[in-house]
Amino acid sequence: MNTTTHFHSPDQLAAAAGLASLKASPRMPVLFLGHGSPMNVIEDNAYRQSWQALGQALLKRYGKPQMILCVSAHWLTQSEWALTGMAEPRTIHDFGGFPQELFAQQYPAPGAPIVARELAVRLDVPAIDQPVLVDEAEWGLDHGTWSVLKPMFPAADIPVVQLSLVYSRPAQEHFALGQQLRALREQGVLIVASGNIVHNLRAMQPGAAPTQAYDWAIEFDQHVAERIQSGDLQALVRFQELGRVAQLAHPTFDHYLPLLHAAGAVHEGEVPRFFNSDFQMAAISMRSAIWGEA
Ligand code: ZN
Repeated sequence: MNTTTHFHSPDQLAAAAGLASLKASPRMPVLFLGHGSPMNVIEDNAYRQSWQALGQALLKRYGKPQMILCVSAHWLTQSEWALTGMAEPRTIHDFGGFPQELFAQQYPAPGAPIVARELAVRLDVPAIDQPVLVDEAEWGLDHGTWSVLKPMFPAADIPVVQLSLVYSRPAQEHFALGQQLRALREQGVLIVASGNIVHNLRAMQPGAAPTQAYDWAIEFDQHVAERIQSGDLQALVRFQELGRVAQLAHPTFDHYLPLLHAAGAVHEGEVPRFFNSDFQMAAISMRSAIWGEA
């Protein structure tokens, strides 16, 4: 788990043309993307192809987003929420045991430091019981973010801000934070949550076909899909009700929590569309969802 330091509280930082510089826009959709193996960013497989097609479709339909706010499974902070606040966030290769080609990948998208500072203030509301700080030096863009954004928006010319996950906070608070992000959708901000609906690395079966998965993986994935399909997004907070199945699907919760942020940012009645609804190595659900497509 990452410990972040070198933070500034937002009120210590001068705010200039930040959120106000984001122009009013038609409502942008919300994405939850199953990212799976980091190799998906360099393999010409169906997942990467879906991200490439999705990026092109979004650009065609909405034009270039003014900013991307990404919640990645791979940025966990200990006690305070954090937003990346650097002008040029570094590409973080937060994995091991992969080919050099993967470590050579860069995603040099700019940050949005002033927006991050203002957003930190806006997100600091009673529903979220820990402050939201701005990280100017530590983090950057981890592979939960760049492995999906690079295929979607290869030009890397859209500013990206990442929001951390405070792993110790209750699921409801993650959902509440997503609700606070909702208004950004009308300011040209594309919200991308990146995790996996089922994620058990120990149980992975290399070589398993995309249609093969453990019974518990299929059960948890189906349960979540039904909640999403029926619009009962608040119920996603209670995922641990599934007991042993939930424990097997998520020995740790980091890849599930981004789904709660995405769900919180969805307006009542917005219809979801699933894609990539299969499994990687039998224990990782790649099911992804987009809400609010115009
Ligand atoms: Zn991951």
